[in-house]
Amino acid sequence: MTSRAALANPACPAPDGAADGAALPVVRERGQNEVFCGLTGIIWLHRKIQDAFFLIVGSRTCAHLMQSAAGVMIFAEPRFATAILEERDLAGLADANDELDREVARLLERRPDIKLLFLVGSCPSEVIKLDLSRAAVRLSQAYAGRTRVLSYSGSGLDTTFTEGEDAALAALVPEMPAAGDAAAPELLVLGTLADVVEDQMARLFAAFGLERVRFVPPRHAGDLPAVGPNTRLLLAQPFLAETARLLERRGATRLAAPFPLGEEGTTLWLKAAADAFGVPAERFEQVTAAARARARAALEPQRAALAGKRIFFFPDSQLEPPLARFLARELGMVPVEVATPYLHRGLMAPELALLPPDTRLVEGQHLDNQLDRCRDARPDLTVCGLGLANPLEAEGLTTKWAIELVFTPIQGYEQAGDLADLFARPLRRAGLLRV
Ligand code: SF4
Repeated sequence: MTSRAALANPACPAPDGAADGAALPVVRERGQNEVFCGLTGIIWLHRKIQDAFFLIVGSRTCAHLMQSAAGVMIFAEPRFATAILEERDLAGLADANDELDREVARLLERRPDIKLLFLVGSCPSEVIKLDLSRAAVRLSQAYAGRTRVLSYSGSGLDTTFTEGEDAALAALVPEMPAAGDAAAPELLVLGTLADVVEDQMARLFAAFGLERVRFVPPRHAGDLPAVGPNTRLLLAQPFLAETARLLERRGATRLAAPFPLGEEGTTLWLKAAADAFGVPAERFEQVTAAARARARAALEPQRAALAGKRIFFFPDSQLEPPLARFLARELGMVPVEVATPYLHRGLMAPELALLPPDTRLVEGQHLDNQLDRCRDARPDLTVCGLGLANPLEAEGLTTKWAIELVFTPIQGYEQAGDLADLFARPLRRAGLLRV
């Protein structure tokens, strides 16, 4: 990334060759893990694609997970439901398919506004036996011209937490029309961003002079962009390796960049797009200067609270390396261990180059070993799943729920201060409790 030195934040020394974390060794662990399954992605996806519906084909466990994880949203007009396969469905697959068809018919009769229906697979054995991709083809034909039916797996056997979004978006790729060689260059921003963040990014791209910018997932199912050799792909989320691979196979060129977390990450992310479309450096500076200054000002008080504090990440969302980079470089925190469920070196290379070189990077999880390391390290702050937070708090460790980092708008300049505050708050609370 040629622009890094020019954009460096004075508060964060620029990496120079041997001092960066690009060559960080990765410890790979396998064992018991404590991560949500991919069904949870529906919680933010159903808010994004406004005329889509997610029908989980699953068990009562899946329904309970969605109800407890989705919390109050279940009382709002929901865009997801669970078709529960009871034991009687085991009697025969034909029965299960008929039952599924009846559920879909009932749903679409009640909800004619649904333009895109996802059948979402789960892990009970009776669901695994059902071929949901064939069911999707069958139902798409039955509702042709009215509702498109697609399928993907959110099963805990195939996916962790954020990988559900990757599976859903990968299912959308074949639906995108082909853009020919002569099509005008277009920027495709991949990954769910809160609408408010997406609007901020769209305004910045427009101010650069970029006229053709599309976001996937779209707000409406029928608004999928065409993809081809003139598509420039910019990932807004790090957990979309499969979707990125499919889009690259369709001819798109991926732009390498850190993810838009914090002032520095957002600047480098925007700069990757600006450079790809030939935006002059002065224009880039002019457009971003005020927002960058606001972000730096918002981070300043948080930096005073967080600098020097040691942080330990359990694997959860694949956001861990970019978060650690932001916390280390812009707030002076010390990442002791950064664990992530999967590490895609290609997508993560610009992030790893910015991590402190002594960061312990872990891919996968062996829960007991990791808990031992965390207890030994006694970090100031531990980022972990809901199931680990209470036991660790009981042992005197201060924790942050990783899930909040996925549900809260944290990308972009205007959210940089809020993102830092998500880490400062548990430390403030712990300080008050000690007093
Ligand atoms: Fe549990 Fe599997 Fe259902 Fe996820 S998909 S809630 S892991 S049964």
